[in-house]
Amino acid sequence: MRRLVIAIDCDDVLVATTPFFIDAYNKQYGTKVTLADAHGVDETVWAAPQDVVNERIAKTMATKEYAELGPTKEEVDILTELSKYHELHMVTARRPEEEALTQNMLDRDLPGVFTSMEFVGWTGSKGDVCKRIGADILIDDNARHLHGAIQQGLPKNGAILFGAYDWNSASSTHEHLTHCTTWSAVKRRVDEIASSEV
Ligand SMILES: [Mg+2]
Repeated sequence: MRRLVIAIDCDDVLVATTPFFIDAYNKQYGTKVTLADAHGVDETVWAAPQDVVNERIAKTMATKEYAELGPTKEEVDILTELSKYHELHMVTARRPEEEALTQNMLDRDLPGVFTSMEFVGWTGSKGDVCKRIGADILIDDNARHLHGAIQQGLPKNGAILFGAYDWNSASSTHEHLTHCTTWSAVKRRVDEIASSEV
């Protein structure tokens, strides 16, 4: 079995971030934002101008509940198992100011599982990071990052699109992306790649 370098996104892959924010937002402000709206174009569902929405999101990010957000038991089990055979890196578009909070989450829930944590920021390139660490696999819910990484040399069989989300359903049939909607499907795919020749 080959030892693989695996880059793993944080939000909506390792942690159910968007459902958390929508739930918190609706409870706090009496709105009815749905998961389908989350990354959509209709901004009226947030019932406030963009700068106010941003402020509200920043407020939610400062809560204890957000700090307590972490992976499920199934994810912890699978990632712990994968880390025995492979090199795992977290590659996230979170901003550097969230580094301490994210590091705390990993120390608390997945100690020793990740070799490094890479912060690319909202506009940064995950492809650059994948190239630098020599990633064989990138697991991400955002097809843009996977296409970018393929362009920079990520093996095509290693581009795993994670989750059944409205914002990625249109990309799920793209020929170079393997769509995995659960972590057990991710585990099977990683095992397949690890036991293949290339
Ligand atoms: Mg994500």
